[in-house]
Amino acid sequence: MPLVHMGDMLRHAYQNRYAVAAFDVVSLDFITAIIAAAEQRNAPLIISLAESHFDYFDFELLMAAVVRAAQRTSVPAAIHLDHGESLESAVRGVNLGCNGIMVDASDLPLDDNIVRTRAVADMAHACGIPVEGELGYVPGVEGEDAERHPGEVVYTTAAEAQRYVDETGVDFLAVSIGTVHGRMKGEPQLDFERLAEINQALGLPLVIHGGTGLSNEQYGKLIDNGVTKINYYTALADAAGRRIGANLQASGGGGYTALVDGVPEAVQEEAARCIELWGSSGRAADLLATCRPWLPVEHAIFYNTKDLDEAGVEQMMAEGRRVLAAIPGVQRVFTGHAVEDGHPYRHCWLVRFCGRPVIDSYREHPAHRQFADQHFRPYAGDRVSIDFEQSAGDEG
Ligand SMILES: [Zn+2]
Repeated sequence: MPLVHMGDMLRHAYQNRYAVAAFDVVSLDFITAIIAAAEQRNAPLIISLAESHFDYFDFELLMAAVVRAAQRTSVPAAIHLDHGESLESAVRGVNLGCNGIMVDASDLPLDDNIVRTRAVADMAHACGIPVEGELGYVPGVEGEDAERHPGEVVYTTAAEAQRYVDETGVDFLAVSIGTVHGRMKGEPQLDFERLAEINQALGLPLVIHGGTGLSNEQYGKLIDNGVTKINYYTALADAAGRRIGANLQASGGGGYTALVDGVPEAVQEEAARCIELWGSSGRAADLLATCRPWLPVEHAIFYNTKDLDEAGVEQMMAEGRRVLAAIPGVQRVFTGHAVEDGHPYRHCWLVRFCGRPVIDSYREHPAHRQFADQHFRPYAGDRVSIDFEQSAGDEG
């Protein structure tokens, strides 16, 4: 089953009043666990990778596994960069396969938050990718991850939210109404009146960070007031940690595989419980029928050169790989030579775009224009260029 357009996914959730789980993953165990939970519940899923976690894993390596997992799962999935800190990290996320981006400049004053968010939104939208912004501030209190969100809570107001959305063009908004990153101390107090006001003013999918530790009733009220994506990590990490602790106690030691035994199952159980609670169980088929699949495009160029020797061709290709791979929406640049003689063309570029909109934004991108005008077109007048969209049944 395919990756799907995350904007379509959250619009479906918004219209049908449920929330899609966005679980942060930090290892293969977490990927396995949340996919199994979503399949068990027949629910859509957002696989989320938080930039604040990049100390724990190699983002590029884990993304390769996440993309593969999303391609082969039986439920509709999206891949989200959580708490992206800069335009550069947002571009990196897009180029590695994220099809939803969060930009978190919520620690900045409103005007600066708008400027940074706007830059990311413009880039992502040119690639057809929706963007989540955050306004107000969700602090960390205690538990894993809490220290990465220092400071006091700042509540979102409807008036500021309206201005922020108008001026940045974000597609979804993470709001601060009393949740915290990590674990709550005492009973969480949520400001539902404020949430209702924001929802009424904006009419777009809202996001809650710091979903750990809320009551069933509180989740229900969040969803009734426009929350369609719940970010959730701490309780999953706690479930994994408890399992490892129990393994240690039972075995009195043991190696790595003995200690992590049963971790995916423990994480899956908690993830499946949340999915059920948030109303996304059984929504997979209906959602798939209404969502656009998220399909890459292969921009293929076959060409012959003149006035360029073999070394010159290699040099031009190396420069192209370096320059073109950094353009937003470019997932891979393949350069190659025909294996056999006798074909009309000797060389090729295969540039993989994350989606159709990149055909235009790539063509217009200054780095592409400069490379094409100076290094490529003068030597490769004899060429043919075709854009291929992946067929929907192709899962790889
Ligand atoms: Zn968060």
